[in-house]
Amino acid sequence: MKTILVGPIRELHTLAGSGGARRRAEMRETARLQNAALVIAGGRVREVGPWSVLRRAHQGAERVSVEGDLVTPGLVDCHTHLIWAGNRSEEFLRRCSGVSYQQIAREGGGIATTMRAVAESTEAELAANTVTRAKLLLGLGTTTVEIKASYADRPENWLKELNALAKARRKIKQQTVVTFMGAHVVPPGWKRQAWIREILRFLFTASTHLCKPAFQDVFCEEGAFSVEESVRVLRAGLRVGLGAKIHCDEFHALGGVQAACRLGATSCDHLLVSGRKEWAALANSETVAVVMPGTAFFLDKPYARARKMVDAGCAVALGSDFNPGSSMVPSMTFAMGLAVSRMGLAPEEALVAATVNSAAALRGAVREGVGTLAPGAPADFCVWPVGSLSELIYSYAFVRPTQVFLRGRQVLPS
Ligand SMILES: [Zn+2]
Repeated sequence: MKTILVGPIRELHTLAGSGGARRRAEMRETARLQNAALVIAGGRVREVGPWSVLRRAHQGAERVSVEGDLVTPGLVDCHTHLIWAGNRSEEFLRRCSGVSYQQIAREGGGIATTMRAVAESTEAELAANTVTRAKLLLGLGTTTVEIKASYADRPENWLKELNALAKARRKIKQQTVVTFMGAHVVPPGWKRQAWIREILRFLFTASTHLCKPAFQDVFCEEGAFSVEESVRVLRAGLRVGLGAKIHCDEFHALGGVQAACRLGATSCDHLLVSGRKEWAALANSETVAVVMPGTAFFLDKPYARARKMVDAGCAVALGSDFNPGSSMVPSMTFAMGLAVSRMGLAPEEALVAATVNSAAALRGAVREGVGTLAPGAPADFCVWPVGSLSELIYSYAFVRPTQVFLRGRQVLPS
């Protein structure tokens, strides 16, 4: 078995720790080493330690030089809507001139615009778009990505999206996790009860599809689905083995957080308008609190209060929410920069949120150790052209990795 020695690394954050989601003070523990080295064999991390020691112990190993650089685990994006068609630039400009996201939705635009574009696209086009976007994410350092199939306006288009994802997954280099999201909005022309019935009917097909969805997601919001409807749909998904995720508290706090925590949801995502009651529910559950500052940035809304959430004991994770309407923000380092500069997290907390805790928001669907470089973990990592984590955060508007490795193989530059 080939052994690879990576080093000397100026600053290495392995994120080694007890496993699972981190909370409170543990969110600052990134296991930082200086003048370090990584030893990789069989696609996994075998050893981590001082460069001076490992260089001598592995003299025959293949060398990867990263002198003067920062190395972190590959970033984990636990929330994207990567499969879509068309674009919403017209709506973006209307929003910039003062029309609200909800007003555009009421006029039949917003998510429904993307649903129409998906309906008009072929399976091959959707697959190709998704592969291109996954490549973009890889170039930004995202080595694990969740993808929601969320823009179908009738059941045959759910199938089209899932078939396209099955195709795309064969070409996407990084690890992907598929989420079925039939309950995004009720498409134009459908009665809400009929649409919900279709979702319930389709769940078994979704859960057994070739593209292997691991989760189901619901948009719990005024104008989308009520708490009661969300719970009904998520519960039916759990019965066929789809883990539960929920978009909630993006514009209105309806009680979706508390209901999802009671249901044992894997994550609650957005939480822009959550307050003490919601934070307490999350802190007292295993449900991961996913915040996505890219959405607040893109919609020019107040940010989720991530500092308070960490202090309240929530397991906070970061996602990009990359989608054509509310977050044309694919970069996880950009999300980390916003988390520090706008939400009050420490750089270490932002890194934990973008790796270990983001992986916890995909638990059961990603390989063990993803988000860390502890011995035994998959050797997914990024080499950054900066000397420290602080400098990575400081450079958030433009930084990109110079090298990306997946399971010990260099995929960038390829
Ligand atoms: Zn979303």
